[in-house]
Amino acid sequence: MNIHEYQAKDILQRFGVPVPRGEVASTPAEARAAAEKLGGQVVVKAQVHAGGRGKAGGVKLASNPDEAEKYAAGMLGTQLVTHQTGPQGVPVRKVLIAEATDIADELYLSIIVDGDLGVPVVIASTEGGVEIEVVAEKTPEKLFRVAGDPLLGLSPYHARDIAAALKVPASAQRATAALISNLYRVFVENDCSLVEINPLVITKSGDVIALDAKINLEDDALFRHKDLASLHDPEQEDELELRAHEADLAYVKLDGGRVGCMVNGAGLAMATMDITKWAGADPANFLDIGGSADEKRIEEAFKIIVSDKDVEIILVNLFAGIARADVVAQGIVNAAKETDAKLPMVVAMRGTNADEGRRILNESGLDISAAPDLAGAAEVLRDRLAGMKGGSR
Ligand code: ADP
Ligand code: MG
Repeated sequence: MNIHEYQAKDILQRFGVPVPRGEVASTPAEARAAAEKLGGQVVVKAQVHAGGRGKAGGVKLASNPDEAEKYAAGMLGTQLVTHQTGPQGVPVRKVLIAEATDIADELYLSIIVDGDLGVPVVIASTEGGVEIEVVAEKTPEKLFRVAGDPLLGLSPYHARDIAAALKVPASAQRATAALISNLYRVFVENDCSLVEINPLVITKSGDVIALDAKINLEDDALFRHKDLASLHDPEQEDELELRAHEADLAYVKLDGGRVGCMVNGAGLAMATMDITKWAGADPANFLDIGGSADEKRIEEAFKIIVSDKDVEIILVNLFAGIARADVVAQGIVNAAKETDAKLPMVVAMRGTNADEGRRILNESGLDISAAPDLAGAAEVLRDRLAGMKGGSR
């Protein structure tokens, strides 16, 4: 689960990570009042679940409360489009009014779980304030990584090593090492999947401070953090992903594709996307119905896929184990009739009640091409795509 910058900064502060003074505002008048209270220059920051706000006009420096009010009025109620959002952007309902910091240097600091090592890894770089993906690609030697220990945590000497790698001035080394140790506690104690400070800033007066903050909380651990679960902001999420989440389905929207993929199981999803590529098209999404699925959930799954306007053809790849193929087939047929969806489908079904599933599909009168298996599905999909014109429906 993603949370807003102002919420992330609240957490940081509770763990002793310094952040600029700030207040959140929902109206231009509140923004003005906050700026008056903070005094001096402030930055007005759109609160959305996306980075790249600076370049997109979502972070503005205001010299006085008048300007802060004006910038807030310009952001609130709009959709902010950044390189991390889709073209439709995400709604700005709140702005953070933060004290402007005199920046001497912008650094980068993050913690993620390293999938290979299975432990939290701290990533630090002297190249802050820019996209870290670009640093990783062009100058990977500028990324410094230190793995934490699941039992011992991050040792103080590791924190000092990282502070040294960040090349902060000698006078700020101690404070930076302390900040890193505290950030590690934020990560572990809140069950985060990501904590990212970009930029971490050295101020002209030599202080170290987290100017931006991004926190992702691990969904599967939220039951241990009831207070954090309430930070959820559904408005920031993709509508279909949200709908899927509510139906306990794993749905991921992918950019630029035209094939909707319905599968059961993450491995099968990967293989299905591979064969889609092989067939000469890109997946528009994939929806994992999981192990056990009843007819109602399949119906909802199908409706979600056809609601994606990029989808021109649907590939259903099912290996029925606990989920029964006939139940899935019936769910698809019900949903297709109910939504009056005319999209062609390529269906590969194996496993429990696969014959019955195929019979239901064949007798449904829908535009369905059956495929014997994964390889067969690839060929059928390729042939169907060849017969279709590209472009949107
Ligand atoms: P995003 O990552 O979404 O672009 P940031 O919070 O990182 O948003 O802000 C972008 C840039 O704006 C920062 O790299 C920094 O240069 C500037 N900035 C952000 N907050 C402040 C602040 N409180 N004082 C001064 N400059 C700021
Ligand atoms: Mg940033």
